[in-house]
Amino acid sequence: MTESTYRIQGATGEWEVVVGLEVHAQITTNAKLFSGAATAFGAEPNTQVSLVDAAMPGMLPVPNRECIRQAVRTGMAIDAQINKWSRFDRKNYFYADLPQGYQISQLYHPIVGEGQIAIVLDEKNPDTSTKVIGVERIHVEQDAGKLMHDQHPTSSYVDLNRSGVALMEIVSKPDMRSPAEAGAYLSKLRTILRYVGSCDGNMDQGSMRADVNVSVRKPGEAFGTRTETKNVNSVRFVMAVVEHEASRQVDVLEAGGKIVQETRLYDPDRNETRSMRSKEDAHDYRYFPDPDLLPLELDDAFLEECRASLPELPDVKRKRYEQALGLSAYNATTLTADADTARWFETLVAEAARIQGKSESDVAKASANWLLSELYGALNRLGKTLDTSPVGPTDGAELLALVADGTISGTIAKQVFEIMLETGDKPAKIVEEKGLKQTSDTGAIEAAVAKVLADNGDKVEQYRGGKEALFGFFVGQTMKAMQGKANPQVVNELVKKGLAG
Ligand code: ADP
Ligand code: MG
Repeated sequence: MTESTYRIQGATGEWEVVVGLEVHAQITTNAKLFSGAATAFGAEPNTQVSLVDAAMPGMLPVPNRECIRQAVRTGMAIDAQINKWSRFDRKNYFYADLPQGYQISQLYHPIVGEGQIAIVLDEKNPDTSTKVIGVERIHVEQDAGKLMHDQHPTSSYVDLNRSGVALMEIVSKPDMRSPAEAGAYLSKLRTILRYVGSCDGNMDQGSMRADVNVSVRKPGEAFGTRTETKNVNSVRFVMAVVEHEASRQVDVLEAGGKIVQETRLYDPDRNETRSMRSKEDAHDYRYFPDPDLLPLELDDAFLEECRASLPELPDVKRKRYEQALGLSAYNATTLTADADTARWFETLVAEAARIQGKSESDVAKASANWLLSELYGALNRLGKTLDTSPVGPTDGAELLALVADGTISGTIAKQVFEIMLETGDKPAKIVEEKGLKQTSDTGAIEAAVAKVLADNGDKVEQYRGGKEALFGFFVGQTMKAMQGKANPQVVNELVKKGLAG
């Protein structure tokens, strides 16, 4: 474990930044936390609002089992304490997007207690640069509706589609010490949520947003007063908020001022935070147990099912890729950073092993290299992702097999891949139709070598005079003459022989 040494230099000395994140993650379910209304993103305003969500008098909330299950699975994925007994509280406040006049949340008895998330600070050395960030709690709560201003000169509208949507609030301990650590924590949390399937992690659609708590102190001193910047919706913005807010606080303190505990807003266009309101305390909300809801009691069978349904998690998967598949730490980290990428890679490896009749560890390295360089390069160029890739894992594995068994060279494989991307044809068909098979036909290669040597008599002289670096030139020319289809080993041997002769 390494300590980060991010410091802000002030006139009075160095300052350390302290960060804690509260992340709201929308639970992936078809229905809301206490009603059966739909939760699809992008629906017409007010088309997904039940009587419960609109807070019609006399309506009663009924907890959605799936939302509870997803919160529990998430807690298990971060090694957290699962509270078999938890309870919903009302957080009372007035706002036009909150018809109930209160939010149903969990203050006193959250469903998930303390847990932890390991972040990696240097992807090339994950084992030596890991830092564990504590999680204080995860509780389940309702989202509010949304006010729509500026639609009409004199009025604002309210859209209740989000009203009652289930959120997990994941509260970290104040364990982060730099913008990079805050960014790494949010990315890692997103990775875990997507593996678990409890949140889609689409930050640009508001499925995940972070309240960023920042304070500064002289190293070794007690924590300073924090500010909280609300609803930050990207990893990059979280890092910008930490950086900006920490240096603003240092400026205030060094000028002899005081930090007031307050809520701030981030303006990405100007890259600055602005004060929104001074911080309210829990008592301002007059929290009390919701009388419409019984406490939640989880039985062992339910917990058992939650645990059994968890997938292999990213840290375990990364270690397996390194140890069992022999991948580099960097490649293992990159391939496991996203659940969909890992799934694609695993299909590719399984197919490559099946087609070649080899073990997965024999084909994993070539598969990883091809995915991360060739395929990613092409997808970037085409503006596509693995989801929309024109070449699937089975076709990719067939291409790798053709290289592995010597049917085509690595150079030709790149050409074949380009044609696969354009036409969607199978690699074997392309090789056959375009006559791209690699040849080990010594007669043809010998003839090509002889011609190259004859055409470059001066260079042959130089080579024989000791300029051995020219060897590569002769190989390259022969390959070119063979249109890249000659077996490179055979070419090497025959060039050597030709030069010696
Ligand atoms: P509240 O519910 O009032 O927002 P919490 O005690 O639950 O307060 O803390 C909220 C977040 O603030 C947590 O993520 C915590 O880690 C973080 N935090 C607490 N103290 C500090 C501090 N001095 N500096 C930075 N972050 C802090
Ligand atoms: Mg808070």
